[in-house]
Amino acid sequence: MSKPRLEIRNVSRQFDVSMAADNVSLSLQSGQVTCLLGPSGCGKSTTLRIVAGVERQDSGEIYVDGGLVCDGTRSLPPEDRNIGMMFQDFALFPHLSVLENVAFGLSGAKSARKIRAQEMLGRVDLAGYSAKMPHELSGGEQQRVALARAVAPRPKIMLLDEPFSGLDDRLRDGVRDETLRVLREDGAAVLMVTHDPSEAMKMADEIALMRGGQIVQKGAPYTIYNSPTDRDAAAFFSDINVMTCKVKSSLAQTPFGKFFAPGHPDGTILDIVIRPQHIRIDFDRAGQGPTPSDAMGQAASANVHRARFLGQNSLVDFKLRDGPFLTASIPSVFLPKAGTPFWLLAPRKHCYVFPRLA
Ligand code: ADP
Ligand code: MG
Repeated sequence: MSKPRLEIRNVSRQFDVSMAADNVSLSLQSGQVTCLLGPSGCGKSTTLRIVAGVERQDSGEIYVDGGLVCDGTRSLPPEDRNIGMMFQDFALFPHLSVLENVAFGLSGAKSARKIRAQEMLGRVDLAGYSAKMPHELSGGEQQRVALARAVAPRPKIMLLDEPFSGLDDRLRDGVRDETLRVLREDGAAVLMVTHDPSEAMKMADEIALMRGGQIVQKGAPYTIYNSPTDRDAAAFFSDINVMTCKVKSSLAQTPFGKFFAPGHPDGTILDIVIRPQHIRIDFDRAGQGPTPSDAMGQAASANVHRARFLGQNSLVDFKLRDGPFLTASIPSVFLPKAGTPFWLLAPRKHCYVFPRLA
């Protein structure tokens, strides 16, 4: 495989006593979109700022196309890194026209810069806006000008730090799709920061989930959603149900029958996690009572405790027999009454088994 466009190798940065970035390693190919995803304060922006060269690392290295850009002592200045940036608080120059804003970072003859800037405006569907001033544009249009300006110098790498969070919901999807299209056409490696899992899943080829300065899991959206590395990683993407149980002879007894728990010694407390959207109602068994085979089966009998209609889906809280409450997300054509009995299924492939952390 070719050298990665961007390689972050073992980068750490400490502020006071806390590690903002803790041994972060990440590798991006050109044309690839990677999202740093995690809660506020987990070190996403610090990592991005180190790549940009506006923050220094204590240790570790950054490489672009295999060439060293910075380590703990030497550092290429930001303007020599061929890296484009878009941040939430992007600012257009208020006294320059739209065209002048886009041409600003370009080098070369004035006429060539103008042609390139005009071409970029066309690509973000603002061809007719070149003579306008920034204050005459809507928030979404300003964002597209900022995108055109960032992409105009053909950066090898684009860094985006929550660039869409200032836009209202109605605009965000459109601007996001547009940005992604332009960046993919250009083939830049894109490193994007967001705290919003749905945004990360929409945008990213690869997601790097961060917590406390560390990358705790890396993978394609499908993998990271369906094979979370621990309970917190599961909970970051959706609400979760947790069934707690104790291991006995490599088995854990739950309301959904026994789970195999190989490698966990007797007495280990397990959290068995299932997302509300993965719980199924077993309509084949509707009206049937419990049978002896359920001990190793996947079904559990439950009664509706409360059901809420949310439009796309309904959220139904179930009380399991002798057991905990579980919430299921089911198609909203269905809104059962409180007290109605059902059999529920917890498909094994959607049940994640984690030892309880101390
Ligand atoms: P995120 O972008 O994920 O919200 P940041 O990278 O901005 O997180 O911050 C990570 C941690 O480092 C936070 O605890 C933050 O308070 C701290 N931090 C960031 N920048 C500085 C700084 N310049 N000085 C001191 N602490 C900082
Ligand atoms: Mg941040």
